[in-house]
Amino acid sequence: VRFDSFGLSPDILRALSDQGYVHPTPIQAEAIPIVLQGRDVMGAAQTGTGKTAGFSLPIIQLLLAHANTSASPARHPVRALILTPTRELADQVAENVKAYSRHTPLRATVVFGGVDMGPQKDALRSGIEIVIATPGRLLDHVQQKTINLSQTQILVMDEADRMLDMGFLPDLQRIINLLPAKRQNLMFSATFSQEIKKLAASFLTNPVTIEV
Ligand code: AMP
Repeated sequence: VRFDSFGLSPDILRALSDQGYVHPTPIQAEAIPIVLQGRDVMGAAQTGTGKTAGFSLPIIQLLLAHANTSASPARHPVRALILTPTRELADQVAENVKAYSRHTPLRATVVFGGVDMGPQKDALRSGIEIVIATPGRLLDHVQQKTINLSQTQILVMDEADRMLDMGFLPDLQRIINLLPAKRQNLMFSATFSQEIKKLAASFLTNPVTIEV
């Protein structure tokens, strides 16, 4: 399998070649076509498998396919939200998303706790389609009305098992209640416990399960 067999935009393929990626990893080969179909996904995958590109690349493609061409920040609502348990992971995912979307008009920013909210607010005000966030700080921005999730079509819960371990379930529930009912949900977890299955059953619609 090659990256150019998925129907991804040439702007994405160019970014992959900048990165030196030649072949998709197994989880990418499985996840990319399913996410492009608009299906919900429950992915059992560890870090190091390439899962980040597995969800980021098709999300970028889906957002490009329904491009918002207005230059006004007010016309750049948050369209994809990626939740991670820690700031380190949020940062890492954001760097990946920025690299993969660098030749596109889409913009991404990262939001996590423990640092000043000011620069994050400025970034959010400038018009951002993809937000990578830890749950608590995301809710701080919602409360201060510096982020609006009413047009978020795609939700990713990355390392969902760690988010549960860290007690983020109530925050996840609050966040999900702010999103449109009709949306695509992707959940990734290294482990497949009863709790994760319960979370998947409550947050995902008819998901495709991917295991690598
Ligand atoms: P992840 O599991 O998403 O944290 O990715 C692990 C590492 O593999 C990251 O450093 C990625 O940049 C890299 N990577 C992801 N996909 C590919 C690929 N198809 N070819 C080569 N490297 C990749």
